[in-house]
Amino acid sequence: MSKISGECLCGYISYSCSEEPVMAGHCQCTDCQKISGAGHIANIAIPRGSLTISGDLAFHEKQTDSGNTVRRGFCPRCGSHIYAENSGMPQFEFIRAGSLHDLEQSNPTMVVYAGSGASWDYMDPELQKFEKMPEM
Ligand SMILES: [Zn+2]
Ligand SMILES: [Zn+2]
Repeated sequence: MSKISGECLCGYISYSCSEEPVMAGHCQCTDCQKISGAGHIANIAIPRGSLTISGDLAFHEKQTDSGNTVRRGFCPRCGSHIYAENSGMPQFEFIRAGSLHDLEQSNPTMVVYAGSGASWDYMDPELQKFEKMPEM
C-alpha cells in the first residue's frame, strides 16, 4: 500500500500519512453499521503518530464489548467519519477508507465482526473472516 491522503465531504478536514498503512479491512460490528448507515465500514490501520490532520475533528467515545474505548473522529461541519482510535490497539490509528482521495490506495484483506454482518452486505469470499475482533 502507498502513503494515503484524503478529506471529508465538505473539505474542512483533510489528512495525510507519512508512513504506509499497516493493514486494511472491513468491520461489520453494529457500531460501524450505525455510524456508516451501511453494512460495514472500511478501515485502514496506520502507525500511530504518522498522521497529519488539517481541521478540528469532533469526537464520539464508546466502549466496545471487550471493554476498550473507541474514539471516533468526524467532521463537525458535514459529519463524515474520518478517524478512529481504540484503547486496545494503541500502536495504531484508523482511517475510514471512504475518505481517501484515491480509494484504490486501500487493500482490504480481512473482515472483522463478520458474525454481525447482514446477509445483504456481500463480502469477497477470499477475505479472511473473524467472528469478532481477533487479538492484535
Ligand atoms: Zn466536512
Ligand atoms: Zn466496527
